[in-house]
Amino acid sequence: PPPLIYAITPTYSRAVQKAELTRLANTFRQVPHFHWIVVEDSASRTELVSRFLARGRVPYTHLHVLTPRRFKRAGMPRATEQRNAALSWLRAHRTATDSGVVFFADDDNTYSLELFEEMRSTKGVSVWPVGLVGGRRYERPIVEKGKVVGWYTGWKADRPFAIDMAGFAVNLQVILDNPRALFKRRGAKPGMQESDFLKQITKLEDLEPKARNCTQVLVWHTRTEKVNLGNEPKRHQDSVLIEV
Ligand code: UDP
Ligand code: MN
Repeated sequence: PPPLIYAITPTYSRAVQKAELTRLANTFRQVPHFHWIVVEDSASRTELVSRFLARGRVPYTHLHVLTPRRFKRAGMPRATEQRNAALSWLRAHRTATDSGVVFFADDDNTYSLELFEEMRSTKGVSVWPVGLVGGRRYERPIVEKGKVVGWYTGWKADRPFAIDMAGFAVNLQVILDNPRALFKRRGAKPGMQESDFLKQITKLEDLEPKARNCTQVLVWHTRTEKVNLGNEPKRHQDSVLIEV
């Protein structure tokens, strides 16, 4: 069988959460050989997400870990603990005989189906362009003679790996072979999560370019507008309780 794709999605409770997860599930449902690792930023698994996943259209593992309050400030990296919980789960439940590819799929991005077939052949660490990120229409790895030699970016160009979380995938065996590779809180600067993680497991010259030598955008760093709940009643008024 082809390698399983493990998509790691950190998610947190907010007005748009179920809408975001629905959009994601509608995509992921169509990807064969796929396993969704959903990690809630919460003290326990919520009813909403549990029921949503149990409706069963996508194979999944449901984890949770609460981000400590001191890490929930503006300018701090998000979802560090959740991504690490998923990496720990993989290291505890998968072995050297399992073939797979690990991808970090935030809950608000937009994913084409082609992206998953591109990443499925990842031997070590693969990379590709990401649309609508870094203050540009896209960022991308620059490829010469089939090798990544640098980055097309408009933001913090001195990052060792100037790439968004949605722009790379890692072979499962690389995750298992580097048991200490994790996302860092200590000393982590905004926008450096990807670089801090990738430098623990790979080198620039070893990156595998996908999406036609990094000339195609197959994933978009979309962000959902904050909803206006300004007309919500102070106390419950409707005659029924509705999950949104
Ligand atoms: N996230 C989370 N807890 C938070 C904030 C964000 O688990 O307190 C998740 C969110 O659901 C998403 C990922 O972390 O899957 C990245 O967050 P966001 O999309 O807000 O970041 P950005 O688009 O600014 O990189
Ligand atoms: Mn986002």
